[in-house]
Amino acid sequence: MRATQYYLATLKEAPQEAELASHRLMLRAGMIRKLSSGLYSWMPLGLRVLRKVEAVVREEMNRAGALEMLAPPVQPAELWQETGRWTLYGPMMLRIKDRAEREFCYAPTAEEVLCDIVRREVKSYRQLPVNFYQIQTKFRDEIRPRFGVMRAREFTMKDAYSFDADFEGLQKSYRAMYDAYTRIFTRLGLEFRAVAADNGEIGGTGSHEFQVLAGSGEDAIAYCPGSDYAANVEAAEALAPATARATAGATMQKVATPGKHTCEDVAAFLGIPLEKTVKSIVVMTKREDGPDVMTMLLIRGDHMLNEVKASKVPGLKPFRFATDAEIRERLKANPGSLGPVGHDVRLVADRTVAAMSDFCTGANEDGFHLTGVNFARDLPEPIVADIRNVLAGDPSPDGRGTLELARGIEVGHVFQLRTAYTEKMGVTYIDEKSATRPMEMGCYGIGVTRVVAAAIEQNHDDRGIIWPDPMAPFMVSIIPMGYGRSATVKAAADALYAELDGVDIEVFLDDRDERPGVLLADQELVGIPHRVVIGDRGLKEGVVEYQHRRETEATKVKQADILAHVMARIRDGAPGAAR
Ligand code: ATP
Ligand code: MG
Repeated sequence: MRATQYYLATLKEAPQEAELASHRLMLRAGMIRKLSSGLYSWMPLGLRVLRKVEAVVREEMNRAGALEMLAPPVQPAELWQETGRWTLYGPMMLRIKDRAEREFCYAPTAEEVLCDIVRREVKSYRQLPVNFYQIQTKFRDEIRPRFGVMRAREFTMKDAYSFDADFEGLQKSYRAMYDAYTRIFTRLGLEFRAVAADNGEIGGTGSHEFQVLAGSGEDAIAYCPGSDYAANVEAAEALAPATARATAGATMQKVATPGKHTCEDVAAFLGIPLEKTVKSIVVMTKREDGPDVMTMLLIRGDHMLNEVKASKVPGLKPFRFATDAEIRERLKANPGSLGPVGHDVRLVADRTVAAMSDFCTGANEDGFHLTGVNFARDLPEPIVADIRNVLAGDPSPDGRGTLELARGIEVGHVFQLRTAYTEKMGVTYIDEKSATRPMEMGCYGIGVTRVVAAAIEQNHDDRGIIWPDPMAPFMVSIIPMGYGRSATVKAAADALYAELDGVDIEVFLDDRDERPGVLLADQELVGIPHRVVIGDRGLKEGVVEYQHRRETEATKVKQADILAHVMARIRDGAPGAAR
């Protein structure tokens, strides 16, 4: 491609609202343009990258035996009503009516549609397993679309759905997808981790997220450097303390703590360690047949409640936080002075809290706290559960070291759905013994558009993007110093361009009549990995300059050798790349 025949739309500045490097760089490089909140157009340069990612995804999905198909993105409400998700999915779903007032949605995902297709098509065990996938637009009306295509409302997802006769089959299909994802993100040159994940609303058992490691990632990951344990913090287990609860040593006392509400303030004021304080969090669970039920959750002062794990405590799901009014009415205390002593309310203590003795809590009276509090003596034994976030330094649940924390961007997610959907939607088959059985289902998503942004988060510097070769919009850029002024430079640039083109290397020749500084800055911003600068001075000595986007210095290469040199560098991969 020649720049003069292309639409290169680089910008000096990105809009103020672009907080993340990837968002800023995608706008500045002219890859995307904003249409409306969470809606982006992919400009020619960006689309080249997106297509590269799609191609790798497609190849590896095909290699794993999945079959590409395409379902409509507009889906009838009736299918979603069969699984109950028409209501459950809530405001994230974009709902549409046709002229006859029939309800539809714009696909946020496609489990129901695929179940419908498969229940019509597949009848016998002989037709199983099947795994269908598509690469297609999804729409989720995110509360806070942000970071450009990273969390957009409209995005491209590769979504696959496997159907097996039995659980063993599902595990095989799941493994095949897990391995395909590993190959995809490895091939794309990304540094990533597969982490155990929470199953979320989707239900079922067994799930992993593929997380691209980046400081700006929205997800927290816990991993053990000494083993292969890795989990989303939402799902990571915090083990119970190794030492049992010590016997009560102190008597319970009410102490004045004027104006002190947080555990930090109270601990500092009383001169006790934060690890001796317990905070009380009040939640409400909906009940079909009566008023919402109140539960008090107890978390150590320096710990954080993990809402995902807490919602798994039997009888708690779905919970919401109690309002101040509910707390005052039922517990006769202000939210800032709450404690677990003296109430007839269900208590759920985190494992760490359950092992504490002589601790400090709110006294249910403004300006006071209780110290020397002990279970069994001052308040009933609580229900014990793992309801806090793990911290760096916690023991790894696999017993093979301690946990560390990292941040990641979720680019893919694989789920074992089991029969959660197929039972509801009657996706059954006839087995060898003529019995009707529900199929075992798995679903597997990759945020194809998010992958592009995640790759930039991991591969950029202050001058611009540094594409891993497999995602680069162009592999090589030729920057002539004075294309319009010097016939020799023009001839050399055109010749190299033709040669690279001849061996199917995607090459971008910047033949614009701009200052060299502008051409070089654009090449660095756009992130083309391999660059050849051609100038009169070098040509006189018979040399041109090669520089990889990750290198700080150019290498002089004989003009006659440059094609071979570039090809060798492409073969060798990037120096110091994330891989
Ligand atoms: P998140 O936790 O980031 O909201 P999710 O768990 O809801 O994502 P899935 O339902 O697992 O997403 O969808 C599969 C993949 O689609 C995700 O792994 C992610 O890469 C991508 N994805 C989901 N939501 C968005 C979005 N709003 N914008 C871009 N990509 C998205
Ligand atoms: Mg997910």
